[in-house]
Amino acid sequence: GDNLSNLMQSVGASEKVFQMMDLAPSQQFTSKGKHQPISSFPNRSKLPNLKGLIEFVNVSFSYTSRETVHVLKDISITVNPYEVVALVGLSGSGKSTIVNLLLRLYEPTSGQILIDGHPLNNMDIKWLRERIGYVGQEPRLFRMDVRSNIAYGCTRDVSEEEIEDAAKQAYAHDFISCLPEGYNTIVDDDLLSGGQKQRIAIARAVLRDPSILILDEATSALDAESEYNVKGVLRADGDKCKRTVIIIAHRLSTIQAADRIIVMDSGRIIEMGNHKQLLLKDGLYARLTRRQVDSV
Ligand code: ATP
Repeated sequence: GDNLSNLMQSVGASEKVFQMMDLAPSQQFTSKGKHQPISSFPNRSKLPNLKGLIEFVNVSFSYTSRETVHVLKDISITVNPYEVVALVGLSGSGKSTIVNLLLRLYEPTSGQILIDGHPLNNMDIKWLRERIGYVGQEPRLFRMDVRSNIAYGCTRDVSEEEIEDAAKQAYAHDFISCLPEGYNTIVDDDLLSGGQKQRIAIARAVLRDPSILILDEATSALDAESEYNVKGVLRADGDKCKRTVIIIAHRLSTIQAADRIIVMDSGRIIEMGNHKQLLLKDGLYARLTRRQVDSV
C-alpha cells in the first residue's frame, strides 16, 4: 500500500541516506557539489584482503571550496582492525562527514586517509566499496520476504543457515522468528519498526562479510523494543568482533560496550576513550550521560 511506497521512497528522504549498493562505483561528490567520475586506478592499490586498519592523518575538510571554516579540523584517528568505535557528538559536529570521507564520497581538503596503510585515494573505489559495509539510518527494504531482503545484493549463493547466522549477528533473528511466517514473511506496510528495518539491513551487510562496517544508528529506533547495544549487534558470535566497526551513535545507551568512543565537537575530537574512562574524565560525554540525553 501507500506505506510501502513511503518505505521505498524513504531512502531518498534525506540527503545523507543512501545505500552503498546504489552508488555508482565510479562516482563521488566533489566540493563543487556535482557528481564527477573518479578514475578507479584498477591496479594501483588492490589489496588482497583488508585487515580494516583505518587512519585519518591531520584531516581537514569543508564542503565547499569557498568555505573558510572547516567542518572537520585537523582530525587524526587510528582505528585498529576489529575495533568497535563509536562517534558521538551534538548534531552538526561532523560525525557523518567523517563517514562520508571514509566512503570516499568526498576527498579531504587537506591531510590523508589510509586503509591498511594505503592512501584511500589510490584505491580502486569499486573494490573498496565492496569491502566496506554501510548501513544508513533508513535502509531500503523491498516487498519480498525477510530472507530475500537479507540476501539482497549478495552475489554468491547463500544458504538459509548463513542468512540466519547473519540475522543472529544483527540481533534480528529473535524478532524475525516471531513474525507470522518467520523468514518467509513478506516485508510490507507497517510490519517493522525503524530499528527492526535497520537490523535487517545490518544482517544484509554482515552477510557480505565486509572488513569494515559503518553503521549510522537509526534515530527512529527510539522504542524500548529496539533497544540493543553494539556489543549485542556486533559481537554475537563471541567476544571478538570479526570486523572493524564504526558506529555513528545517536544514543549513548547503545554504545557503552564500544572499545572506544570518540567525542566530537564542532569538527574536532575533544575526548576519546571507553565508557568508563570518559566518565572518569568528567567532560562532555560524562555530562551528556549524566543528563541522560537520549538524542545526541
Ligand atoms: P547529525 O548528528 O545531525 O547527523 P553530524 O555530527 O553527523 O550531525 P555532519 O552531518 O557531519 O554532522 O555535519 C557537519 C557540518 O557540515 C554541519 O554544519 C552541516 O550543516 C554541514 N554539512 C553536512 N553535509 C553538508 C553538505 N552536503 N554540504 C554542505 N554542508 C554540509
